[in-house]
Amino acid sequence: MMKIDGKTRVCGLIGDPVEHTLSPVIHNSLNELLSYNSVYVPFHVESSGLHEAITGAYELGIQGLNVTVPHKNAVCHMVTSLDPIAEGIGAVNTLVRDEEGHGYKGYNTDMPGLLRAITSDGITLAGETVIILGAGGAAKAVAYMCMKEQADTIYILNRTVEKAAAIADHMNTLFGENRMQAASLEEYRNLFCEQPDTKKYVVFQCTSMGLCPRNDAAAIHDMDFYQQVKVGFDLIYNPAETRFMKYVRSAGGQAYNGLKMLLYQGIIAYELWNECMISEELAEEVYDRLYEAIHPASDNLVLIGFMGSGKTTVGQILKKHGYSLIDTDDYIEQSEGMTIKEIFDTHGEAYFREVETRTLKELIETTHHAVISTGGGMPLRRENARLLRELGTVWYLRAGEETIWNRVKKDTSRPLLQCEDPKGRIHELMQEREPIYKKAARAELKCDDRSPEAIAERILQVQSGRAEQHN
Ligand code: NAP
Repeated sequence: MMKIDGKTRVCGLIGDPVEHTLSPVIHNSLNELLSYNSVYVPFHVESSGLHEAITGAYELGIQGLNVTVPHKNAVCHMVTSLDPIAEGIGAVNTLVRDEEGHGYKGYNTDMPGLLRAITSDGITLAGETVIILGAGGAAKAVAYMCMKEQADTIYILNRTVEKAAAIADHMNTLFGENRMQAASLEEYRNLFCEQPDTKKYVVFQCTSMGLCPRNDAAAIHDMDFYQQVKVGFDLIYNPAETRFMKYVRSAGGQAYNGLKMLLYQGIIAYELWNECMISEELAEEVYDRLYEAIHPASDNLVLIGFMGSGKTTVGQILKKHGYSLIDTDDYIEQSEGMTIKEIFDTHGEAYFREVETRTLKELIETTHHAVISTGGGMPLRRENARLLRELGTVWYLRAGEETIWNRVKKDTSRPLLQCEDPKGRIHELMQEREPIYKKAARAELKCDDRSPEAIAERILQVQSGRAEQHN
């Protein structure tokens, strides 16, 4: 439990509404991981009380605030000064305490947050032709980023064309260059004539179309459009794969959601308040927590652990208690029409890990109340570890090297042990994998001296305790 004392610093969020915000996950996770004596709290503030809320927050000693809808524009007039990016966009999402000015300085971390997100995915905008779909608050930050990052031509398309035109005019004037053009959403077809066949678009999806629960909505449904898209960023992060992203991927392009943008805008605000730099490793840890907050685990049981740790045997016992049983290696062998060894021999390990990721995504969509026994290398990919936790409660069956060796030494079907020194290889692999298993799991069980029946019973006990807690 978090310790609050007279020295605890307070940061927070103001908006209307704030009930569903994920920002506390970002900031309180960072406070916990860095052992900072600081807490982050959402405050519901209506427009009529915005000014009083900000002056009151200063008097209460609040260190910093995030600002969300509908206050991002109004708050620009209530700050001691504006950072140049916030001024250029005309919106503030972060307030940083300014003792000299007796108030708060306004920043916009949405734009640098998105830039950090796309950069981390290896995307650059210089010289690209960009389409922005939507012209609301978020689209403004995207428009500024595209101008600043030297995109060649930027089309901004919106249902209400006047709003797109206002953003284009503002950006062209601000940067003194006519690189941005506005059009209505339906005019996307005209763009095909302007773009040579070989040069495809980078598209930012900034409308609210496709946001959960309206998962099937998209601003444009025409596949001819998506054939022209090489990279598509949807600012929406729930669902994890929007209709827009599905279209982009099925036309052969790369697609990303807005979760990293959310992460990095929060991290940049945190860095401003605490005058620190957050490492990429820490950022990944917080990303995992955000992902889990959006995608809670379903009622499956997922067994992970080294080869020979007993996952299949324990799975078979759990099956007798009403769970269906899926072995991911069997599942993959069936879907690929080859044994695991043949997949490794024909396509290599990287391909196999790719198939594992695809398998997990399928199982998340289709599986309930099942025990999923996984291949030993399944959690090695960070994405897989995340997907496993979405699939169900992850149990790490932990067995020592000697136990493993005794169980697998006569088994010739294990591709990773086809070498001169299989025992040494087990040692090496376990050193590498143990911390990954521990990190991926929700719970672990030492298995050397426990029978498979005892392991299964313990899992069922804990699981029923959890179910009761939730009832
Ligand atoms: P906003 O200011 O309310 O703008 C909404 C946009 O969606 C407008 O362009 C609006 O067009 C368009 N739109 C709404 N319904 C439409 C429909 N039926 N057909 C066509 N267009 C429609 O919202 P915002 O703050 O810009 O946010 C936009 C999206 O980005 C939201 O889904 C939000 O969740 C997401 N977002 C993500 C992050 C992140 O960190 N990842 C940050 C900010 C926002 P009109 O102008 O014609 O109404």
